[in-house]
Amino acid sequence: MVRFRVALRAACCWSRRMCFRAEDGILRLTQAHRDKCVACLHPFSAIFLLVLIGFVFVYELWYVLPAIADPRGMWHKLNWLLGVYVVCNILGNWWLGFARSTSVESLSPKRQHPAAGEAHLWHYCTSCQKLVPPRSWHCRLCNACILKRDHHCTFTGNCIGHNNQRYFLGFLFHLTLGSAQALVYNAMLTSKSRAFGVSDPLLMLGQDRSQDPDFEWKYTVAAIFKLNFFLFMVPFGMLALQMLMVQRNSTCYKILDRSYDVGWRRNFELVLGKRCFWTFLWPTIASPLPNDGTQWTQKQFV
Ligand SMILES: [Zn+2]
Ligand SMILES: [Zn+2]
Repeated sequence: MVRFRVALRAACCWSRRMCFRAEDGILRLTQAHRDKCVACLHPFSAIFLLVLIGFVFVYELWYVLPAIADPRGMWHKLNWLLGVYVVCNILGNWWLGFARSTSVESLSPKRQHPAAGEAHLWHYCTSCQKLVPPRSWHCRLCNACILKRDHHCTFTGNCIGHNNQRYFLGFLFHLTLGSAQALVYNAMLTSKSRAFGVSDPLLMLGQDRSQDPDFEWKYTVAAIFKLNFFLFMVPFGMLALQMLMVQRNSTCYKILDRSYDVGWRRNFELVLGKRCFWTFLWPTIASPLPNDGTQWTQKQFV
């Protein structure tokens, strides 16, 4: 038992050392090749996202939906409307997340300096060479200090922080909704075509392809259904993680820090603004944030 514990502790230490080394390597790489990383990674991620959304939109609404619902019926039209609404929300939130700057530079010149009696709460950034507000951290890719920095997102091409986290949450929410909608359609088509298991290599062993003239098509339908399940789980997992962090008023940068937790309702208002969850309905709904990202109330520990 003692040997097992020693081995486990050694394995943990080794994996932690490896993680630190990997993180250090990535940080050094982005520092040395910042411009190349930004010039390649961001356009590639944006194009990948747009192509994926375009493919899913066309495949689901032009092919799958007419195959599972009467194209002249009301159900077909309602699902079309839902698909268009979800894609508009994904693209709108994605665009606003990119366009809304959340760097310290976005503050008015007066607010870029601590108010009287607040200087001790601010910290010095060696890269920007100035005092920056609490919860602001420097991003090597953006080359700026970010207000309440959460993480750098390659899909939006900038950092997610105080001013644009609302759009990032809306983006993830509608990605999850859209992929869930596609998953239902694909499940219905796969069931209707009796294609479940066709793309499963183990079941394929016992199948005679020559007996089924639609085998290739069934294989494609079943494979897309399985890929869709993965494409649903990724945004769903990210959304769940983001919601958990917002509910605790922590960030990816300091995921275990709950010192700013002022109650779940207020925590969500600090990110989503005055209209809170109504912002998920449409990206341009006005929802002013309660502060400008420079002043944060800390929880009182007794
Ligand atoms: Zn900085
Ligand atoms: Zn960044």
